[in-house]
Order: sequence, then C-alpha cells, then structure tokens
Amino acid sequence: MDSCIFCKIIEGAIPAKKVYEDEDLIAIEDINPVAPHHVLLIPRKHVVNALDLTAEDDPLIGRIFRAAAAIAREWGVDERGFRIVQNNNADAGQSVFHIHFHLLAGRHLGWPPG
Ligand code: ADP
Repeated sequence: MDSCIFCKIIEGAIPAKKVYEDEDLIAIEDINPVAPHHVLLIPRKHVVNALDLTAEDDPLIGRIFRAAAAIAREWGVDERGFRIVQNNNADAGQSVFHIHFHLLAGRHLGWPPG
C-alpha cells in the first residue's frame, strides 16, 4: 500500500520508536499518546480494519494480543491493568486505515470510552 503511513513505518521509510517486532507485527510508540503508556501493535500485513479480516488472519490476531500482554508485563502494569483498543471506521474514530491495536496503560482508564 503506497500511501499507507503504517506500511511506510513497517518498510522503514518513516521513522518510529519501535518497542517490539517479529515476522508478523511491529509495536511502536504512538506519536500522540493519550496515556503514560501508549503503543500501537500493527501487523505487517495491510489489513484495513476488523471488517477486512479473513480466517487466514486468526493466528495473527492471537499473536497481537499475546505481544500486547508481554509488553504490559514488561511495563509492570499487568496487575494494575491495561487496555487494548481497536477502532473501526468513522464513528469509532479510525484515522489510519491499516488495522492496529492501541495498548494503553499507566492511568485509570474510564469506561465507557468517549
Ligand atoms: P485515532 O487517530 O482517532 O486515535 P486510530 O485508531 O486510527 O484513530 O489511531 C491512529 C493512531 O495512530 C493515533 O493514535 C495516532 O496518534 C497514531 N499515529 C499516526 N501517525 C503516527 C506515526 N507516524 N507514528 C506513530 N503513531 C502514529
């Protein structure tokens, strides 16, 4: 995807602060953090959002959640709590159309979200 900002980050064409990577995904610090800890887990494969997932992606989603849990443990917030958020289309505020999972921690996270 030529115009996708996350594809460019994955290719290394745009810099980002990487906190984790493997053959399937990267995790980067969000450029506009909304919590003391805020990273984005992004699959290398360009999937638009949850509506674009296929059965082939099932293991990928599991890996993303396990990577998020590992990062939360590293941060030491596993007991206190953390949140994994994924936005789809306009009402949810999706602004980058390459699926990504926000991992948020380090403050009380209100419910319901805004
Ligand atoms: P929203 O922008 O409303 O949070 P998304 O769920 O689509 O909607 O999230 C996109 C996220 O990507 C935002 O939190 C934004 O700060 C982040 N972001 C955009 N560009 C970059 C970038 N170059 N590096 C890191 N994070 C980025």
